[in-house]
Order: sequence, then C-alpha cells, then structure tokens
Amino acid sequence: MKYFDIHSHISLKQNVVSEDDLNACWTSSNGFRGKKRKRKRNNRSKFKNYTQSDLAACYKGGTELIVNALHALEEPIINMGKLIPNLSSQIPYEDLRHLQHDCTTPFQRLVREYNYFNNTARKHLVDGEQAQFDIARDKKSLLENLDKGIDVNVVLSVEGAHCFHSNAPYGSDELHHDILNNFRTANEWDHPLFYLTLTHFAYNYVVAHSWSLPIPGLAKKALFKKFKPYRNPAGFTGITETGHQLIEEAIGKTGSKNRRTLIDIKHLHIDARQEYYNIAKNNNIPVIASHMGVSGIARYAEARKVVPNNNSAKVIGNGQFNPWPINLCDEEIDIILKSDGIIGLNLDQRILGAGNKKFKDQLIDFLKSEGIRRREVNYDDGYKDYERLWHTGLLVENILHIVRVASDKKKAWDQICMGADFDGNINPIDNCITIDEFSDLEESMVRYLKLIPDIDRNLCGYTPEEVCRKVMYENGKTFLLTHF
Ligand SMILES: [Zn+2]
Ligand SMILES: [Zn+2]
Repeated sequence: MKYFDIHSHISLKQNVVSEDDLNACWTSSNGFRGKKRKRKRNNRSKFKNYTQSDLAACYKGGTELIVNALHALEEPIINMGKLIPNLSSQIPYEDLRHLQHDCTTPFQRLVREYNYFNNTARKHLVDGEQAQFDIARDKKSLLENLDKGIDVNVVLSVEGAHCFHSNAPYGSDELHHDILNNFRTANEWDHPLFYLTLTHFAYNYVVAHSWSLPIPGLAKKALFKKFKPYRNPAGFTGITETGHQLIEEAIGKTGSKNRRTLIDIKHLHIDARQEYYNIAKNNNIPVIASHMGVSGIARYAEARKVVPNNNSAKVIGNGQFNPWPINLCDEEIDIILKSDGIIGLNLDQRILGAGNKKFKDQLIDFLKSEGIRRREVNYDDGYKDYERLWHTGLLVENILHIVRVASDKKKAWDQICMGADFDGNINPIDNCITIDEFSDLEESMVRYLKLIPDIDRNLCGYTPEEVCRKVMYENGKTFLLTHF
C-alpha cells in the first residue's frame, strides 16, 4: 500500500545531531520492533535512539509522497535546553549550543537544513534493497518521478515564519525587511515550498500563536519567563503588518519562478486564524490545516475562551477531544472545507485528546462492550489490545467529527489526510509510532470503524476500507497535485 503525509520532519533531527553524516536521513535508529516500542514507551521521541520518520522508514512503509517541514529551532527552545531538557525534545544540550554557534540566525539554520537535506544521496540501500527518493522541483518533474516509480517523493514546506528571522532587533523595521527578503530568497530555491506554516511555539512578529506546549505548573512558570521576550504585545492575537505582507508575497505568484506558497494555519492563534480565513476567501485560496486535532467545541466565540491547561477538558465539560484553542472548532472546520482546503490529522496523542479522561474512558468502555479483550495472544509484544485500539479510536473519532460537522459530508471525505508530525517531537499514538507503521494503523482504523454501530450513516456510501484509503493516501495526493 502507498501512503501520503502532509506534515512530518525527515531532516530536522538529523540536521541537528548528525551534520557530518550525509546518510543520516536514511538511517533508521529504531532497531528491532520490540526494542523500538520499549524506547518509545512513556517517552516522547528520544532524540538519538528513536527516529520516527527517516527516509528508510518512509521507504519501508510505502510513503510515496510526503511534505518535509523544514524548521529552524526557535531561540527559546534552544535557550531552555538546559533548563527543561525533556521539553526541548531531549535534544542534547551540546548539540543545541553547537547549532546556535554554527548558525547565528534562524534563517541560517533553515538554509542549513535545506542544504543538508538536499545533499542527501538520492539512492540508498535499505535492508539490501535499492531505495530512491527525490525532492520535487516542480509539478512536472514530480509527476515524472511518480510515473517512474521513485519510492519516496518529498515536497518541502517551512514550519514557522521565525525561520526567516535575522538577528535584527525584535519589532524593528530591519527585521520586517529581513523576514520578507529571506522568504524571497527561499522562494528562489531549486525546490519550492508547497506551504508555509506561519508560526510555531513563540511569537514571531508575523502572527500571534496558540499555546501548544504540554507543561506542568512549575516548569510552565519557568518557561513563561523564558518566553517573555517572545510574548505577544499585550492582547495582540492577530496578524501583523509584516504578516500581511508575507502572506501577500506567499500567495501571489512572485519571484523569477512565479511561485505560489500556500498558507498553513496550524499553530496560529484562533483569532488570527479567522483573520486568515477571510484573506483566503477573498483570494480564493484553499486553507491548509496541516497537523491538527479537533476541539469538539461548536462555536469560535466559545472555543477562543478556553484556557490551555491540563484541566481544560474538565472545566468546560468537554466529553471528547482536546479542547485547547490550538485545535479546530466546528465552525472553522466547515470554513476550511468550504475553501476546498485540507485538514491533516496529527498523530500526537495529546492533540487527539488522550489526556481527556472522560474521552479515554468512553473509548475503552465502547471497545469493551464490543468484546475487545485487554490482551490478545501474539499481538505485538503482548501489547494490551484495547489499550492500543483506543488510540486508533482517538484518531478515528477526530476524523468522524470533521465529517459530522461538515455541511457537505460526502465532500469532507475527500478533504482529510495524514499530517502525522513525526519527529516534530510528538508522542505518537501507541499503534503508529513510526512512519513505517502506517499500514498497521490503517488496518486498525478499518477494524475500529467496523465496530461502530450505524457507521454507514457517516460513510456517505463509502466502505470503511475506502475511507481509510482516502485519508491515508488518495486525498492528500490529489490535493498536492492540484495545488503544487
Ligand atoms: Zn507543529
Ligand atoms: Zn511539525
């Protein structure tokens, strides 16, 4: 089977810790299956001994088309490495410091990752087989490569407009010009950016961001302090003038290559997202929401009031999902779908709502009532069966919610895809912890869908197998080939 992923990182870690090894993007450090699970269990992605989405894993798992999100680590993340090492994705502190000394500006770090990935050998032996990948230069060559049967076809994006920052003072005119100029430079690269995710963890003088880090009380206080210089001006929740100009530049066909870069609304503040939906509507641009979950809240006016902390779900009585405003509320889902956009589903447990106890209990009770046992014989290292299948439930329920709230349900089944965010330091759902496990995930999605009574009502005439194929491969590929 072939797979598609609209948002993962396949050179981010490697660029940070293995800069001298040009084969690192091909190198799987997962070891054999059992060990991989042990390494991952109860852990976010251990930086050095567990990679979620290297090229070897893409090849083995049949990932035919994937968007590799290039990303310069933000200053606050680099700086807090010593303070809260676990949070900063367990990147060894020395590597962070080294990276920072090597490239003093975020844009230099972005260029470094681009060059590093571009220098990766296009062919490599994986388990004794010749595997091939390429980075898309334009639509024509991408189609040719797909025709030729190139195993892994990579399209580029950038996560966070801070990646275009220089060292100019925050808020200065100089920074404004540098951001736009550096974007123009990237727009001339041999390999175009399919989309730009406007922001990430910290305020970037382009657009307000959503709080996204999972942190317990004390650490959060320390972190807030650390982030202080990067916090929005009081009360600012929208798009700045720099942001407006950057968007205009991106979505207009600009530069000597006449390229358009779509905008991804992931990580944007919920208010800024509404501002962007209007821009997209006025310009007839499809909205990309690349690695999302749903909040389960109907209206934007309610959703924007939710405070992102461990109690959010309890406070608002949310029986399902993760209600943080970084996730999509129902109103927004329909706006995105009506723009002919696409919603990529993140495989991070937290984003999908694993921390919502009510939701978890509900899913496990449902599986028990369907006769799913806790443990099945010979089932992957004795992993408990319903304790794994409920993680599939998290994903499937997020998908079904999108379809349920869509005004055109049948069309919605064409607009949902994978946006796993592998190696974006996520804690993926237990039954798909690396990209070569997409087929296992698909199998369990079909299994879960078939357990739901009256599921046909939500499938709009498709079979469970058909909708899973659409989500795991067809929709994303069609969207990319239409808009690249
Ligand atoms: Zn992200
Ligand atoms: Zn990411």
